[in-house]
Amino acid sequence: MDFRLNPDQDALVASARGLAQRHAQDPTVSWEEAGQFPWEFCSELAAHGMTGIDLSVDVGGGGGTLMDSVLVLESVGRVGPHLADAVQATNFGAVRQIAKFGGDRVVDEVLKPILGGSALATIGMSEPGGGSALSSLRTRAEVRGGDVVVSGSKLFNSNGPHATHYVIWARFGDGRDDIGAVVVPADTAGLTRGRTERFLSGEVHCGLTLDECKLPSDYVLVDHDGMRKMMTIFNIERLGNATRAYAFGEVAFKLATEYMVDRETAGSRLQDFQGLRWKIADLRMRLDAAQLLLYRAATELRDGAPVPVYTSIAKAFANEAGFDAANEALQIAGGYGFTEDSALAYLFHRTRGWMIAGGTVEMQRNRIARDVFRGMES
Ligand SMILES: Cc1cc2nc3c(=O)[nH]c(=O)nc-3n(C[C@H](O)[C@H](O)[C@H](O)COP(=O)(O)OP(=O)(O)OC[C@H]3O[C@@H](n4cnc5c(N)ncnc54)[C@H](O)[C@@H]3O)c2cc1C
Repeated sequence: MDFRLNPDQDALVASARGLAQRHAQDPTVSWEEAGQFPWEFCSELAAHGMTGIDLSVDVGGGGGTLMDSVLVLESVGRVGPHLADAVQATNFGAVRQIAKFGGDRVVDEVLKPILGGSALATIGMSEPGGGSALSSLRTRAEVRGGDVVVSGSKLFNSNGPHATHYVIWARFGDGRDDIGAVVVPADTAGLTRGRTERFLSGEVHCGLTLDECKLPSDYVLVDHDGMRKMMTIFNIERLGNATRAYAFGEVAFKLATEYMVDRETAGSRLQDFQGLRWKIADLRMRLDAAQLLLYRAATELRDGAPVPVYTSIAKAFANEAGFDAANEALQIAGGYGFTEDSALAYLFHRTRGWMIAGGTVEMQRNRIARDVFRGMES
């Protein structure tokens, strides 16, 4: 087992880091900035071949590996936290479901603009009655001739107010196997965005109402067995979520240790207090473990896709390690950390959200325990 990156990966990391450094002078993300989508950085990523990094060349991707995508996301996230959302949107999120299941028309009309940095697709899974219990979703899709008609409602659509397209998970029938997904452009007749709302991190989200939205059936991504098929791909989104949690934890860790070196109180520097040094040692251990679990999940693939249990372990662990780092760093910075314009405030709120988004840490634990006990039931 070799824990070192190869020369190509080292070069990719340096290139992604350099790009982020040219666009983010420091890791502070204001409340206002948190609500914007980094469109300009999407275009920069596209210009530097960092969109669809591991998608196949046939659909306009770069033909790299999932680990390459993780490394770019990590490198950008460690420099400019908010810029990492552009890497996520063009490599890990709804874009993956579109690339995997979209036909030629969807590739041309939706995927290529996303990879070019001019379009954004977000994921419409959650509904009032279906969050963790996704199979309870009620939005319906019906194929009528050459069209598909979608009706229902969605909520918590991250970046929904900025999106040009939504991947709407919907039911094509009443059975568990009848869940699928349809790409719905934001300007489709019958689609209404709810008012723009904010998560605690400042990111915007909105609800969606779909009233008989009619689209060509080419826009259907999956019409049956979606829970299994789409979840396989959604595990890549989860790795993006976990990578940012880990990377943001590293940013918080760096800020905390720099502060401990600079800050003097009662004639001592914070870095001389053993109680604080042990906190830092604990965070270092947890962040290193998170990175290794993430790299395992990104490299040990089965049939080209992440192994679900490795993904769940990496997600839950990185989510909690990232949040612990942000939380402890904020504590170490005292009152200065708890101000609106502190970089730590954004990192704290953002890492907290990932313990809920993309499948809660409790649901990941359910998945892990299921794997542990598989075949042992009496
Ligand atoms: C920052 C953020 C971004 C999001 N972005 C999107 C998005 O872009 N698109 C989208 O569709 N959704 C999005 N969501 C919604 C998110 O996917 C859901 O909030 C999440 O799946 C949980 O669903 P819920 O809120 O309905 O909570 P519930 O499912 O009602 O769960 C409530 C609590 O009970 C726990 N729980 C539930 N079931 C079990 C169980 N079986 N065992 C143990 N504990 C359980 C949960 O872990 C949670 O703590 C986002 C959420 C956040 C916070």
